[in-house]
Parts: sequence; C-alpha cells; structure tokens
Amino acid sequence: MIPYGRQNINQADIDAVVDVLQSDFLTQGHQVPLFEKKVAKYCASEYGVAVNSATSALHIACLALGLGEGDYLWTSPNTFIASANCGLYCGAKVDFVDIDPLTYNLSAQELEQKLIQAKKDNKLPRIVIPVHFSGQSCDMKKIYSLSKEYDFKIIEDASHAIGGKYLDQPIGGCQYSDITVFSFHPVKIITTAEGGLATTNDKGLFVHMQLLRSHGLTRDPELMTKKSEGDWYYQQVDLGLNYRMNELQAALGISQMERLDEFIDKRHFLQERYDQLLSSFSIIKPYQGPDSYSALHLYPIQIQIDKVKRTREEIFKSLRKNDIGVNVHYIPVHTQPYYLNMGFKKGDFPNAENYYERAISIPIFQGLTIEMQDEVVNVLKKALV
Ligand SMILES: *Cc1c(COP(=O)(O)O)cnc(C)c1O
Repeated sequence: MIPYGRQNINQADIDAVVDVLQSDFLTQGHQVPLFEKKVAKYCASEYGVAVNSATSALHIACLALGLGEGDYLWTSPNTFIASANCGLYCGAKVDFVDIDPLTYNLSAQELEQKLIQAKKDNKLPRIVIPVHFSGQSCDMKKIYSLSKEYDFKIIEDASHAIGGKYLDQPIGGCQYSDITVFSFHPVKIITTAEGGLATTNDKGLFVHMQLLRSHGLTRDPELMTKKSEGDWYYQQVDLGLNYRMNELQAALGISQMERLDEFIDKRHFLQERYDQLLSSFSIIKPYQGPDSYSALHLYPIQIQIDKVKRTREEIFKSLRKNDIGVNVHYIPVHTQPYYLNMGFKKGDFPNAENYYERAISIPIFQGLTIEMQDEVVNVLKKALV
C-alpha cells in the first residue's frame, strides 16, 4: 500500500533519540528548549513552546488568550476536529466560517460578512482560528485587518504548514496573528512521533503557555506571588495541565528540522509532477495562490463528478483496492454527530460540504518515488473511466 502520507526517519534521527535514551534526562532536560529555539528561529518568531500535540498547543493557546465561558471561537469547517474542539475545552461556543471554493481555506470574505452580522447580534468571536489547509496560508493580511476592526485574537492552525511561506515570510512568524500552532504527528511535514509547538512574539503569552503546559507551576521567583521558602520551592500560580514534550521527541524534532527544507523541496517536485501528469484528467487540481508557498502537506484533488461515470466513493474504493492509500480531508466538522447534537445542520456551510463530496487526497510525502507516483497516476486514470 502506498500511503497518502508517511514519516521519513534516517539514521541521524535514530542516533539522536538513542543519545537521549543513554543520557541523564528523558524529560525536562536541554533538548526541548533547543528544539523550541530552533523552530522559533526558522519561523522568525520570538518564542516557541513545545508540547505533546498540536491539540494541546491549541488548548493552551486558547487558555492563554483568555477564552472562556460565554465566548465564541470561530474556525474553518474544513479541518481536523481539534481546531474546533479546543474552543469547547475552554467552555466557549464554537462556530464556523465557510471556505473559499478555490483554496479550500477559511474565506476572508465570508468571515467579514459573518462579523458584520455578529456585531449586530452582539456575538462577536474572541478568537478566530484560520487553518492553513494542505499547507497553503489563508489570506492572513485580510483576516488580520478584520481582527483590528472587530477586536478578536488570531491563532493560526499551521499543523499542515511548517516550512511554508506567506508573502515570502515563513509561516509561524506571527506577523498577522497572536499565536501559530504546528503539529508533528507522523503524517505531517516533520515528526516527533507525537508533538506540537506554539510560536508567538508576545512575551506574556509565551510565559503563560509555558506555565499552562506544566501544571501552572513555576520555580521562577519573578512569577511567584510570595517569597521563596528555599531551593526546593515551587509555586502553583495557575491551573495548568501536563502537556510537556519529552526529550526523545525534541531530539527527533531537532534532527528532523535539519531536513525540513529538503522535505518541502521534494513535495514541490512531486506537486509539479502531479500537476503535469494529471492535466487531462477529470479532476480539479489543488490551486496554488500567488501569495503563498505551500508546505504541501496534502495533494487534494476534486473529482469532476459530472464528467465521470463513477461516484467519488467508487473511485476511492478502486484506488484503495489497488493499494493506493488515499484518504479524504476533511469531513466538515459541523457534520460530525457531536456537532450536529449542538445544533449544526448539514447545509450550514455549503462550500465545505461541496468540496468534501468530491475530495480525495492522493499520496504525497518525502519518500514517494517517481515509480510510486507513476503507479498512483496509472491507477487513478483507470479508476476515473
Ligand atoms: C493534525 C492536525 C491537528 C492535530 O494535531 P495533533 O498533533 O495530532 O494533535 C490539528 N489541526 C489540524 C489542521 C491538523 O491537521
């Protein structure tokens, strides 16, 4: 089976993890701060906070920005459920902004329309989470200017997008947001097995997220509310969680970061090759906007179902039967049973639903060879007739 995505682990990655296993610290040593500095530097952001998943990073990002009961969080329906669930963890209400049919990203135009209405209804969001779907940045300039006009905070869900650029700047630099979140799940661009990281340029948010990922406790006298009682002393100053990344994960992350640019180059090579090979197929290829240099986490095609005799499901089945490990990204979050129970309905976000009904993600990852890619194209060609 050729999967739709897969990690790439080399001997240097293995050696880095083994070195940590033989060292004094398996957790709370030097690797995590080094990894945080490396990612922050790469993204040209001031600070990085590494945690055990992007889901955890989204949660502490929302907490640090003060999200709570009575607040609204808005995100894209075309995302993994974690981008929305983080709002529910904080007791906030979640709502969605439909996607742009061209980029499949949260539409800045739809956002503006929804904000105008929400202002009248006195239901403006406290946080908006644009998701850089498949690694391509959302229209951050426009979303940022709306955040100033309507007074909301921005968390970029860049789980797909480390190594990508927006207006020639690395994604994660937070020029147009408060916090950016990355995922290092094995299927993403680089991996720490499980892991996530939040970048920010705001010292207060940085310090607060550091507290929140580790029980809300501190050994820093400056953060304490009363005098230290001795060298053993620590204080709990907030209600935090245990979301720490361990040293094995961070060492793997540091090693993977060395190859990030190489990974992105390979993905672009494969994308350009797919674009050529699929040009006569009855599909819509993923659009690449001029403002963005995508990290290309996914290569999502849309089947032109009016031009082929088979359904999306039949095409999907035939690809899987022929060992092409395709997938579908994403089932619109508002159509999940849990969200339907909250009052959302099918039809609420038609662009996301239309896209979903036609979408298939075909394999793209570092280790995909030309021969494997040709096999994907041949099987797809047969599946489409
Ligand atoms: C993978 C993913 C997440 C969650 O990442 P984890 O590290 O698995 O918690 C969140 N948002 C998006 C868009 C993702 O693709």
